[in-house]
Amino acid sequence: MPMTSETPTRHDQHGLYPEAGTVEDLRRNLATVQERIASACQRVGRDPASVRLLPVSKTKPQASLRLAYAAGCRLLGENKVQEAFGKWESMQDLADLRWSVIGHLQTNKARLVARFASEFQALDSLRVAEALDRHLQAEGRSLDVFVQVNTSGEASKYGLNPEDVPGFIQQLPVFSALRVRGLMTLALFSAEAERVRRCFILLRELRDQLQQSAPAGMELDALSMGMSGDFEIAIEEGATVVRVGQAIFGARPLPDSYYWPTRSDPQTPESVTD
Ligand SMILES: *Cc1c(COP(=O)(O)O)cnc(C)c1O
Repeated sequence: MPMTSETPTRHDQHGLYPEAGTVEDLRRNLATVQERIASACQRVGRDPASVRLLPVSKTKPQASLRLAYAAGCRLLGENKVQEAFGKWESMQDLADLRWSVIGHLQTNKARLVARFASEFQALDSLRVAEALDRHLQAEGRSLDVFVQVNTSGEASKYGLNPEDVPGFIQQLPVFSALRVRGLMTLALFSAEAERVRRCFILLRELRDQLQQSAPAGMELDALSMGMSGDFEIAIEEGATVVRVGQAIFGARPLPDSYYWPTRSDPQTPESVTD
């Protein structure tokens, strides 16, 4: 039996990762993260090739993204649509650089996502699915999507409640420009590894259950879970995509409440929530 129950979170590093200012820094950080991915895989007998590393470049300036590109990154994750769209527009010269939008989307921004993104990981309503599909059809494009699930039970987190996901999935096949790949979650942000792990187990079990009843042609094998502070635990529980920002690019200058605004916070202006 592999011993995984003791893998700690690394949330104690949060906000402390040094800024990556050169292509060598980025190469080294990417290599370190890949090594951590490989050892987590080894603990549970998984092939490291079954885990995709999605570097998350949110808040970082274009210059850092260009260094990441030089270091070999071809898909970058961003959680705010407007910011991602601006970066895409100004980096058109890097024709093979693709974009994954990993944050909550308001219906009125679906048109932007349909224009430039190749992946959207935070689908959580039929309204957004409908808007994305309509704009994608108009653009003659399609999009890989993940359904975001709230596995922590925190009222502040986006995502569908686990019990609502099966019914939601059944309604997605009509949106033919959306290729539903799997599920995404943000775990509880806690140093208590067992509570974090429980979120990941919940997502995997939900995916396994959904695979039994998934609409024809929908594969639903992807599990996007884990970030700088907890991706090893996520991999031990079956993550196929890990979204890693700080451990690659360095700490962000603003507190996380800025990037993960709570959906119930009336103080948060629209321009900040998206
Ligand atoms: C910022 C972000 C991440 C990455 O977090 P890090 O702590 O920088 O690794 C992962 N997922 C989502 C949805 C994010 O917004």
